[in-house]
Amino acid sequence: MENCLFCKIANGEIPSHTLYEDEHTLAFLDINPVHPGHALVIPKIHSANIFDIDAPSWTRVCETVRRIAQPIEKATGASGINVMMNNRDTAGQVIDHTHVHVIPRHRGDGLRLWPQKPYARGAAENIAEKIRENMEKA
Ligand code: 5GP
Ligand code: ZN
Repeated sequence: MENCLFCKIANGEIPSHTLYEDEHTLAFLDINPVHPGHALVIPKIHSANIFDIDAPSWTRVCETVRRIAQPIEKATGASGINVMMNNRDTAGQVIDHTHVHVIPRHRGDGLRLWPQKPYARGAAENIAEKIRENMEKA
């Protein structure tokens, strides 16, 4: 897709530090890492996000995430990995080309994930039912 930064990285128009590449996917270093070794995995064919990508492409992206996770952990001396994805600007997506973050984590690195809280009475049943209904429509 024209003017898509990650399409340009996928086709070599813009340089990146490639970690792994196959016919369908590319893993490369994020330019502004949470920690060194923070990688992005993308499909080479443009799609915008999880809502847009086709199932076979998504399967291939996930397999590349799986393959790259251990090398990143080993190479960085990390003791854990976060696999994360932002979808749509509300959720923090800045680049509108499907990408998965693979982030090495170090014990005591001070990063915190999102805050959580328990459901109010009945709320879990309600939202679970609504999600199941939407699954049936999908
Ligand atoms: P998002 O917030 O969309 O999930 O993440 C986009 C990521 O792309 C950010 O972590 C950002 O640092 C990274 N990024 C933005 N521009 C470039 C670039 O030109 N090259 C590389 N390698 N990463 C980039
Ligand atoms: Zn693109």
